[in-house]
This record gives sequence, C-alpha cells and structure tokens, in this order.
Amino acid sequence: MSWEIQSQLDQLRKDGLWRQLRVMDSPQSPVLEHEGKSYLNFSSNDYLGLAPSSELKAALLEGVALFGAGSGASRLVCGSMRPHADLEEALADFKSTEAALTFSSGFAVPLGTLPALLGPGDTVILDKLSHACLVDAARLSGATMRIFPHNHLDKLERLLQTAQGRVLIITESIFSMDGDAAPLREIVELKERYGAWLMVDEAHAIGVLGPQGRGLAAALGLQGRIELQMGTLSKAFGLSGGYLAASRSVVDLLINRARSFIYTTAPPPGVAHAALKALEMIRGEDGERRRRTLRRYVEQVAPQQAASQQSAIIPIILGNESVAMDASAALREAGIMVPAIRYPTVARGSARLRVTLSAAHLPTQVETLIQQLTVLNLAQRAEAACH
Ligand SMILES: *Cc1c(COP(=O)(O)O)cnc(C)c1O
Repeated sequence: MSWEIQSQLDQLRKDGLWRQLRVMDSPQSPVLEHEGKSYLNFSSNDYLGLAPSSELKAALLEGVALFGAGSGASRLVCGSMRPHADLEEALADFKSTEAALTFSSGFAVPLGTLPALLGPGDTVILDKLSHACLVDAARLSGATMRIFPHNHLDKLERLLQTAQGRVLIITESIFSMDGDAAPLREIVELKERYGAWLMVDEAHAIGVLGPQGRGLAAALGLQGRIELQMGTLSKAFGLSGGYLAASRSVVDLLINRARSFIYTTAPPPGVAHAALKALEMIRGEDGERRRRTLRRYVEQVAPQQAASQQSAIIPIILGNESVAMDASAALREAGIMVPAIRYPTVARGSARLRVTLSAAHLPTQVETLIQQLTVLNLAQRAEAACH
C-alpha cells in the first residue's frame, strides 16, 4: 500500500488548499519582517499588543531570573512551582470560580478535560463552528457527539431532548474565524432547563471583552452559571498556555485524570510568572486603555460589527478558496499580512480573509489597511462582517 504523500500534496495544490510556513524575522508586532521586506501585521491574535510590550518582556526575564528556564517535570512530580499556583489563584479570582488549572496550551485544555469528565454513554453537544481542539477532545472522550448548526438554539434544544447520560454543551463565546458571539444567555437557560453542563471557550474574548477583560460570560453576568470556562494565555495574554476555570472539585478531578495535564512537563515557570503580570495589566488601567484603542479600530474597520459585539476579528468572506488566496496575495503585495482562511479550518466554499486588529496598531496603520481594502474592493465586505 503506497502512502501517496506526493499525490496528496499535488491534490492540495490543485484544490487551492496548499499551506506553507512563512518565516518572520521580527518579533510579533504590528510590523513584521519577512524575506527582507516589512509588512503591516493584521493577522495576529495578540489583541492587546502585550506580546512585544516592554512590561511583559521584563516580567518574563524576571520570571526566568527567579525560577529558572524550565520546570523540570510534570506538575504532579516536582514541576508545580510557586508561579503556577499564584497564576491559578489569580485566574480563579478573575473568572469568579473556586479554582483554575493551567495547561501548556489552550489546545491541551479540552483534550485533558473532556475525557476526564465524560465517556461512552454520555453526550457532548457542540456548535458546528467549534474549534478543532474541542472537536478532537469530544471524539477522544468516547461520548456520543452531536452537532448543532452555528448558534441555532432550536436545534440545540432538540438535541438536548434526546441526549443520554451526562450531557455537556460546548460553544465558544467569540468564534475564532467569524468573530461573532454565541447567544450565551439563551444557551445557559437551555442547559439549566435540561440539567446539562456547559463549557465555554473564551479564547478570543478573554482580555478583550467584559469588565476588566473578563470575557463575554462576565459581560453578561453569567460566570456563576457556567460549569467549565476555558481560555488561552496565548492570545490577548501575549504568551502561551491555557486554563480551565471551574469548581474546586472539577479541578481536583482533572489534576487526577486529565492526561494532557498529568503526562507533560509543566509550562516554564517564567511564562506563568509573566502571565500573572499580563493578567494584572489586562485587569488594570493599562488594559482599559488598550481595549478602548482596540474598540476604536474595530469601529473604523467594521462599524456594524462594532455595534453588535466588538470582537477584534473581522472576517471578509469571499467563498472560493482561490479567490481568497488571491486577495491575501494582493494585500501582501501592498505590504499587508492578512491570512486567507480555507477548508478545513472553515467550511468548503466559505474561504475568507481574517483581519485581526490589535491595540498595538498605530492609527495610521489602520488607515492604511482601510485604504488597501478599499482599493481591492474589500472594504464593503468588511463592513458587512456583522452577522
Ligand atoms: C487558539 C484557540 C485555542 C487553542 O489555544 P492555544 O493556546 O493556541 O493552544 C482553543 N480554542 C480556540 C477557540 C482558539 O481560537
């Protein structure tokens, strides 16, 4: 049996689905260096601009000076260090939950959590647009998987009516490739009516939305009613890692059962130390200032979206894969990095440009983006981004 690696690659090229890595020679900041040229970066998830900030760089260096470079072992062996404990306590406070547990990545959070809590005979009900890590985790758990069309409450309710065993609904609060919000209040009411649990992935909302950047659940006053609240330290936090905020007993069970937590080396202590600093910035006046700047930029680029939920993700949906690739290449030619997002990240025929804004952008850089979108006839589509 041949592995047919080359023919698979050829097919990807033919379908306009070929992907390749581009090496950036600069830090992640509003201007990127690539092959000797400078580009404006409208593709990063560093929404508040913390990744290249002097404050966070200093905190990371300080963490390394205090606690060393690596953590040496799994958290359960001897890798559980003071910065991990302090960060988890601060995250629980931020999310108003009894406890929080950090993981090496956001991806690792559901991968450990779902198989620890659910198994065959139970049911996981996911929004169709849920992130790959949520889908993979649900599969790995062995529970029955049910999918409801994006944000479709009636279909969700119908699935709840026939669900067996422990039932968990999973959604994102702000969706990663569309930038729109889930109807969280209605989903919370439904899950309570049917005695299900809810997991919300706030990867794109934490730091960006809600009072002090606490996320969409907090903005809607729902934090106390959502059993499993996950997020990442790799987007607005500007670092790397993921967290789950939940009850003390859920966290204790995960410490005993979550394989992506147990069987991996603890995140570097310096990163946890810096994440504590990032959290302090996000909660404070500095974070407020950055969120105000970000909101102003979203209003400039996509006024209708700004009126609805103010995420920093602006999809420009073009449909055809090659059309999206050409639009991305045209922007790159004009000195602007905006990725084309294609199948399998989004459905076939819904390829798009995904523009992301950051508080670190300068007003003139945002104006340049708007000008180029206008030149390429993409500006109106950006304005229509609202769902
Ligand atoms: C990015 C992302 C993750 C994964 O987080 P990492 O820290 O990058 O591993 C999980 N869920 C969603 C919705 C994301 O966008």
